[in-house]
Amino acid sequence: MNGKKNIKGKVDEIEIMKEMDTFIKLLFYKEKAYKRSPILSNITPEEAALIFRILYEKAETKGLSDEELEQITGMRETQIRRILLLLLENKLVTYQRGRTKTGETRFFWRINKSTLNLVLLSRKKSVLEKLKNRYGFEEENEIYVCPKCGARYTFPEAFEYEFICPRCGGELELDEDREINLRILKKIIENLQREIKRDEAQL
Ligand SMILES: [Zn+2]
Repeated sequence: MNGKKNIKGKVDEIEIMKEMDTFIKLLFYKEKAYKRSPILSNITPEEAALIFRILYEKAETKGLSDEELEQITGMRETQIRRILLLLLENKLVTYQRGRTKTGETRFFWRINKSTLNLVLLSRKKSVLEKLKNRYGFEEENEIYVCPKCGARYTFPEAFEYEFICPRCGGELELDEDREINLRILKKIIENLQREIKRDEAQL
Protein backbone atom coordinates (compact mmCIF):
# COMPACT_ATOMS: atom_id res chain seq x y z
CA MET A 1 0.00 0.00 0.00
CA ASN A 2 2.76 2.39 1.01
CA GLY A 3 4.84 1.42 -1.97
CA LYS A 4 1.96 2.21 -4.24
CA LYS A 5 1.55 5.60 -2.63
CA ASN A 6 5.24 6.37 -3.11
CA ILE A 7 5.08 5.49 -6.78
CA LYS A 8 2.01 7.70 -7.13
CA GLY A 9 3.92 10.49 -5.39
CA LYS A 10 6.82 10.06 -7.80
CA VAL A 11 4.54 10.16 -10.82
CA ASP A 12 2.92 13.33 -9.46
CA GLU A 13 6.34 14.92 -9.00
CA ILE A 14 7.36 14.07 -12.56
CA GLU A 15 4.06 15.45 -13.84
CA ILE A 16 4.54 18.64 -11.84
CA MET A 17 8.03 19.06 -13.26
CA LYS A 18 6.82 18.51 -16.82
CA GLU A 19 4.04 21.04 -16.28
CA MET A 20 6.39 23.56 -14.76
CA ASP A 21 8.99 23.06 -17.45
CA THR A 22 6.45 23.96 -20.10
CA PHE A 23 5.08 26.77 -17.99
CA ILE A 24 8.47 28.40 -17.36
CA LYS A 25 9.32 28.22 -21.05
CA LEU A 26 6.01 29.82 -21.98
CA LEU A 27 6.50 32.44 -19.30
CA PHE A 28 9.97 33.13 -20.60
CA TYR A 29 8.80 33.76 -24.14
CA LYS A 30 5.83 35.81 -22.95
CA GLU A 31 8.01 38.07 -20.81
CA LYS A 32 10.53 38.44 -23.58
CA ALA A 33 7.90 39.40 -26.12
CA TYR A 34 6.11 41.64 -23.67
CA LYS A 35 9.10 43.61 -22.49
CA ARG A 36 10.92 43.70 -25.81
CA SER A 37 14.04 44.31 -23.80
CA PRO A 38 17.41 42.59 -23.97
CA ILE A 39 17.20 41.61 -20.29
CA LEU A 40 16.44 38.00 -21.10
CA SER A 41 18.37 37.87 -24.34
CA ASN A 42 21.42 36.08 -22.97
CA ILE A 43 19.37 33.42 -21.24
CA THR A 44 17.58 30.46 -22.73
CA PRO A 45 14.24 29.13 -21.49
CA GLU A 46 16.02 25.84 -20.73
CA GLU A 47 18.33 27.69 -18.35
CA ALA A 48 15.36 29.32 -16.64
CA ALA A 49 13.70 25.92 -16.30
CA LEU A 50 16.92 24.45 -14.91
CA ILE A 51 17.18 27.07 -12.15
CA PHE A 52 13.58 26.41 -11.27
CA ARG A 53 14.15 22.64 -11.14
CA ILE A 54 17.18 22.97 -8.87
CA LEU A 55 15.25 25.22 -6.49
CA TYR A 56 12.30 22.85 -6.59
CA GLU A 57 14.47 19.95 -5.44
CA LYS A 58 15.64 22.09 -2.51
CA ALA A 59 12.16 23.32 -1.67
CA GLU A 60 12.26 21.85 1.84
CA THR A 61 15.49 23.62 2.80
CA LYS A 62 16.13 27.29 3.51
CA GLY A 63 16.87 27.69 -0.18
CA LEU A 64 19.95 28.49 -2.22
CA SER A 65 21.93 31.69 -2.65
CA ASP A 66 22.70 32.97 -6.14
CA GLU A 67 26.34 32.07 -5.49
CA GLU A 68 25.40 28.46 -4.79
CA LEU A 69 23.28 28.40 -7.95
CA GLU A 70 26.30 29.71 -9.84
CA GLN A 71 28.44 26.87 -8.51
CA ILE A 72 25.86 24.21 -9.32
CA THR A 73 25.00 25.37 -12.84
CA GLY A 74 28.18 27.08 -14.00
CA MET A 75 26.04 29.95 -15.27
CA ARG A 76 27.07 33.56 -14.74
CA GLU A 77 25.71 35.36 -11.68
CA THR A 78 24.05 38.08 -13.79
CA GLN A 79 22.19 35.42 -15.77
CA ILE A 80 21.06 33.68 -12.60
CA ARG A 81 19.85 36.96 -11.10
CA ARG A 82 17.79 37.75 -14.17
CA ILE A 83 16.15 34.33 -14.04
CA LEU A 84 15.48 34.72 -10.32
CA LEU A 85 13.86 38.10 -10.96
CA LEU A 86 11.71 36.60 -13.69
CA LEU A 87 10.55 33.89 -11.28
CA LEU A 88 10.09 36.44 -8.50
CA GLU A 89 7.93 38.73 -10.64
CA ASN A 90 5.68 35.76 -11.29
CA LYS A 91 5.61 34.86 -7.59
CA LEU A 92 7.17 31.47 -8.20
CA VAL A 93 10.04 32.09 -5.78
CA THR A 94 10.53 33.96 -2.55
CA TYR A 95 13.72 35.06 -0.86
CA GLN A 96 15.01 35.68 2.61
CA ARG A 97 18.14 37.12 4.02
CA GLY A 98 20.39 34.62 5.76
CA ARG A 99 23.95 33.75 6.63
CA THR A 100 26.26 31.33 4.84
CA LYS A 101 28.47 28.85 6.70
CA THR A 102 31.27 31.40 6.60
CA GLY A 103 29.01 34.03 8.18
CA GLU A 104 28.37 36.23 5.16
CA THR A 105 24.92 37.70 4.57
CA ARG A 106 23.23 36.46 1.43
CA PHE A 107 19.79 36.19 -0.12
CA PHE A 108 18.44 32.65 -0.16
CA TRP A 109 15.93 31.77 -2.83
CA ARG A 110 13.12 29.26 -2.40
CA ILE A 111 10.23 27.93 -4.40
CA ASN A 112 6.93 29.44 -3.32
CA LYS A 113 4.93 26.24 -2.99
CA SER A 114 1.52 27.79 -2.40
CA THR A 115 1.71 29.93 -5.54
CA LEU A 116 3.05 26.95 -7.41
CA ASN A 117 -0.08 24.99 -6.55
CA LEU A 118 -2.23 27.87 -7.79
CA VAL A 119 -0.32 27.99 -11.05
CA LEU A 120 -0.77 24.26 -11.57
CA LEU A 121 -4.43 24.47 -10.68
CA SER A 122 -5.08 27.21 -13.23
CA ARG A 123 -3.27 25.17 -15.88
CA LYS A 124 -5.42 22.13 -15.11
CA LYS A 125 -8.52 24.32 -15.41
CA SER A 126 -7.52 25.60 -18.82
CA VAL A 127 -6.84 22.03 -20.01
CA LEU A 128 -10.28 21.06 -18.70
CA GLU A 129 -11.90 23.88 -20.69
CA LYS A 130 -10.19 22.72 -23.87
CA LEU A 131 -11.25 19.11 -23.31
CA LYS A 132 -14.84 20.19 -22.70
CA ASN A 133 -14.89 22.19 -25.94
CA ARG A 134 -13.44 19.24 -27.80
CA TYR A 135 -16.07 16.96 -26.26
CA GLY A 136 -18.80 19.39 -27.27
CA PHE A 137 -17.54 19.46 -30.84
CA GLU A 138 -17.22 15.69 -31.09
CA GLU A 139 -20.63 15.20 -29.55
CA GLU A 140 -22.37 17.63 -31.89
CA ASN A 141 -20.67 16.50 -35.04
CA GLU A 142 -21.19 13.10 -36.54
CA ILE A 143 -18.05 12.08 -38.34
CA TYR A 144 -18.06 10.06 -41.54
CA VAL A 145 -15.00 8.12 -42.60
CA CYS A 146 -13.90 6.73 -45.93
CA PRO A 147 -13.05 3.02 -45.48
CA LYS A 148 -10.68 3.15 -48.46
CA CYS A 149 -8.46 6.18 -47.79
CA GLY A 150 -9.34 7.01 -44.17
CA ALA A 151 -10.41 10.62 -44.88
CA ARG A 152 -12.83 12.10 -42.31
CA TYR A 153 -15.81 14.38 -42.96
CA THR A 154 -18.39 16.15 -40.85
CA PHE A 155 -22.04 15.45 -41.57
CA PRO A 156 -22.59 18.60 -43.72
CA GLU A 157 -19.50 17.72 -45.77
CA ALA A 158 -20.50 14.09 -46.24
CA PHE A 159 -24.03 15.19 -47.11
CA GLU A 160 -22.72 17.59 -49.73
CA TYR A 161 -20.63 14.84 -51.32
CA GLU A 162 -23.64 12.53 -51.21
CA PHE A 163 -21.66 10.19 -48.96
CA ILE A 164 -19.10 9.42 -51.67
CA CYS A 165 -15.47 10.23 -50.87
CA PRO A 166 -14.38 13.07 -53.22
CA ARG A 167 -10.80 11.83 -53.05
CA CYS A 168 -11.17 8.19 -53.96
CA GLY A 169 -14.84 7.43 -54.56
CA GLY A 170 -15.21 5.22 -51.50
CA GLU A 171 -18.59 5.00 -49.78
CA LEU A 172 -18.55 7.04 -46.55
CA GLU A 173 -19.56 5.33 -43.31
CA LEU A 174 -20.49 6.70 -39.91
CA ASP A 175 -17.39 6.61 -37.65
CA GLU A 176 -18.07 3.88 -35.12
CA ASP A 177 -15.05 4.77 -32.99
CA ARG A 178 -16.74 8.05 -32.18
CA GLU A 179 -18.75 6.55 -29.32
CA ILE A 180 -15.62 4.97 -27.87
CA ASN A 181 -13.65 8.19 -28.24
CA LEU A 182 -16.43 10.16 -26.58
CA ARG A 183 -16.50 7.74 -23.68
CA ILE A 184 -12.72 7.94 -23.22
CA LEU A 185 -12.80 11.73 -23.41
CA LYS A 186 -15.59 11.84 -20.84
CA LYS A 187 -13.58 9.67 -18.45
CA ILE A 188 -10.55 11.95 -18.78
CA ILE A 189 -12.72 15.02 -18.14
CA GLU A 190 -14.28 13.44 -15.06
CA ASN A 191 -10.89 12.47 -13.65
CA LEU A 192 -9.55 15.96 -14.19
CA GLN A 193 -12.63 17.51 -12.57
CA ARG A 194 -12.12 15.28 -9.55
CA GLU A 195 -8.46 16.22 -9.40
CA ILE A 196 -9.26 19.94 -9.55
CA LYS A 197 -11.83 19.57 -6.78
CA ARG A 198 -9.28 17.73 -4.63
CA ASP A 199 -6.63 20.40 -5.30
CA GLU A 200 -9.06 23.18 -4.42
CA ALA A 201 -9.96 21.48 -1.16
CA GLN A 202 -6.28 21.34 -0.23
CA LEU A 203 -5.54 25.00 -0.87
ZN1 LIG B 1 -11.60 8.05 -49.76
